Amino acid sequence: MSNLPFIDLKAQYQALKPSIDARIQKVLDHGQYIMGPEVKELEDKLAAYVGVKHCITVSSGTEALLIALMALDLRPGDEVITTPFTFAATAEVIVLLGGVPVFVDIQSDTCNIDPQLIEAAITPKTKAIMPVSLYGQVCDMDEINAIATRHGNIPVIEDAAQSFGATYKGRKSCGLSTFGATSFFPSKPLGCYGDGGALFTDDDVLAQAAREIRVHGQSARYTHTRLGVGGRMDTLQCAVVLGKLERFDWEVEQRLIIGRRYQELLANLPVRRLAVREDRDCVWAQFTLHLENRTAVQQQLNAAGIPTAIHYPKPMHQQPAYAKYGQGLSFPNSERAAQQVMSLPMSPDLSVDQQDRVIAELAKALQA
Ligand SMILES: *Cc1c(COP(=O)(O)O)cnc(C)c1O
Repeated sequence: MSNLPFIDLKAQYQALKPSIDARIQKVLDHGQYIMGPEVKELEDKLAAYVGVKHCITVSSGTEALLIALMALDLRPGDEVITTPFTFAATAEVIVLLGGVPVFVDIQSDTCNIDPQLIEAAITPKTKAIMPVSLYGQVCDMDEINAIATRHGNIPVIEDAAQSFGATYKGRKSCGLSTFGATSFFPSKPLGCYGDGGALFTDDDVLAQAAREIRVHGQSARYTHTRLGVGGRMDTLQCAVVLGKLERFDWEVEQRLIIGRRYQELLANLPVRRLAVREDRDCVWAQFTLHLENRTAVQQQLNAAGIPTAIHYPKPMHQQPAYAKYGQGLSFPNSERAAQQVMSLPMSPDLSVDQQDRVIAELAKALQA
């Protein structure tokens, strides 16, 4: 039998082809490849979708996190509290600015940062808290915001690269804290056809700072008020996201249905499922479970044409480039998750038959 796609971006393009093609052609015709009209159109639509005042599109999710920290004026030696169980970009942007990532362990059942451990990590140098809404489930934002408020309004940046479209107590991911930062990397819940990202905030001053930082710190043409980066999202990529938005509500609904069905089917198998809190909807950027015999199961699934992935095999404090921020520290839940997690094929276009095939092969692999 043929291999299943891990994420079916081709089926998505086929469904949206007329609209995406027309939008791309329009950009080619008007020729405003940088900061063309589609950029503002997308920013207005996304801000309305999330329910915040400002959306600033940027060149990637990584750049969104970097620009958020720059807008908050992170200085060398400043500390940022975050999770070691994430994609490298989260810690990378802190270190790039001379900051110090202060790692705090995750909850073993959701793999999101444990708010109960954050308070003990706060020092007078804490400049921001950067939780990650991993796998598409928003982290405990109310608890995190309450701690931040109690300690002198520490800014909170939600790394929402995987959770665009997810909800938390009826509100949208990206609109729950000082800044929300997301990515339009093709495989994320809302992806473009290259690199892209966006920042969200209700704060007028921070939004203005982020807009300036995105274009080399310019407050007016060739007036460089502050240090910035070349961080714009190009018009073509904005046009692609505008096209994708046309069926995004349907896609989110499909993600919820497919995720729920996976969880139900897994209930009968000897695996540990990710916990999803009752007050939030996970958009399953990755559909991830925990296995004690991961390597064997993964090999057998791959042999049966079921692609899998590991998000992530090594926590940040065990990575050579970041080991110095974890010296003498242990994060047992992150370390165990790194040994056990495995992601199954997931996309809005995953059919019931495909999903049944994944589960049947997983059941076989678990018996072997
Ligand atoms: C993808 C991702 C990023 C980075 O996004 P890019 O657009 O690839 O730069 C940051 N954080 C997390 C948690 C991610 O999954």
